[in-house]
Amino acid sequence: ATPTAVTCGTAIMTRLGIITRRSGIFEKLPKIQHVVFDKTGTLTLGTLSISNIELTCELSKSQALAYIAALESGSLHPIAKAFAPYIDNSMTVTQRQSVVGNGLSGVIHGQQCKVGSQQFVNNTDMVESSTTVWLSCEGVVQAKVTLDDEVRPETAKAVSQLKQMGCKLSIASGDNSTEVAALGKRLGIDDVHKGLSPKGKLALIDKFQQQGQVAMFGDGINDAPVLAGANLSIAMGSGAAISKNSADIILLGDNLARFADAVKVAKLTGRIIK
Ligand code: ADP
Ligand code: MG
Repeated sequence: ATPTAVTCGTAIMTRLGIITRRSGIFEKLPKIQHVVFDKTGTLTLGTLSISNIELTCELSKSQALAYIAALESGSLHPIAKAFAPYIDNSMTVTQRQSVVGNGLSGVIHGQQCKVGSQQFVNNTDMVESSTTVWLSCEGVVQAKVTLDDEVRPETAKAVSQLKQMGCKLSIASGDNSTEVAALGKRLGIDDVHKGLSPKGKLALIDKFQQQGQVAMFGDGINDAPVLAGANLSIAMGSGAAISKNSADIILLGDNLARFADAVKVAKLTGRIIK
């Protein structure tokens, strides 16, 4: 594409709510053969609600929620928002650490506590039926919280547009629940990978990139290392989160279906001869 064509194309994309942040995107977009989606916050809204709490030791329900909320405060993961209403301002956490794609740890009332996936908290990993978060204190499991999420309204349209364009589609999720395969089935995406660490997601992208050009869709914040490894990265964005987002392309207003428009504009841009 000529510089003039790129200027025009960028203006059209901006009007559609597609922010392009790297040079070379107009050349890369038409070549994409395989699109890989993260699940939570990407295919789904990432507005999780607590559907069940199982208590397994001495903490009460309100205590367990306050412990989780305390550990999660400051985290930008969609899971963290579900616990925000339970923050108890008198509870302090020291030595807080975040392990991307796993969870968080910290010291509360002198006890080493952890919140996150079963693998992270408990060192075991069973397939659950929905997104699940575990809490432990001093290695003792205290609670298991099940969360529900909803598919974004534009997801089905975006998936069918990309299929029509001939793209191969995959889901790469850190979630280890049967929800991941169920979502794939519902959307018509057969290639589904669950329970992946950020490293596992990267390895999968690398493997796909040996076959062709890959675009990775993520939330842009928790998935930053995975997005950085893809030929092209796309994230949904709105508000303040945009500045923290490192993706090549950001779809404003969280509209997943705009990606197909981006590919079309890029193809046209390539054909414009000054
Ligand atoms: P996805 O690929 O579906 O977006 P992630 O890779 O972000 O999922 O997270 C994978 C799993 O790790 C979650 O299902 C959850 O169990 C755990 N996890 C990640 N981040 C957090 C967090 N901030 N709080 C609690 N659990 C977390
Ligand atoms: Mg995610």
